[in-house]
Amino acid sequence: MTTIFSKIIQGQLPAEKVFENARILAIKDLHPVAPVHILIMPKKNIPDLQSLEEEDLPLLQEIFLVAKRLAKEFKVENGYRFLTNNGPLAGQTIFHLHFHLIGGKQLTHGLG
Ligand code: AMP
Repeated sequence: MTTIFSKIIQGQLPAEKVFENARILAIKDLHPVAPVHILIMPKKNIPDLQSLEEEDLPLLQEIFLVAKRLAKEFKVENGYRFLTNNGPLAGQTIFHLHFHLIGGKQLTHGLG
């Protein structure tokens, strides 16, 4: 499926990249909900967490390490949220797997 993120990955749409290698891309969220709001995604076309296959697990490992590295780089390592929305009921709007790294302010406890 073609999404905004697959177009960004292919260089067809602009984005503020904060990390990139052959497998992973991290960009600043266009509509940040906190001073630090980064989206970390695999370049592989995986729509959501429910579509993840066992062979994709190394990508998840790498994404978590990228999150840790970016949290330090953006100085939020003492308090941030790292999450993915799976499916419309959870608020997923772009169906290319991505993880939100959110921090830089006191986050409210509400997750529902
Ligand atoms: P989700 O609702 O979990 O699917 O998250 C999608 C996120 O993508 C939202 O936080 C949007 O603000 C963000 N977003 C939408 N379009 C862009 C874009 N072109 N560049 C960066 N972030 C975007």
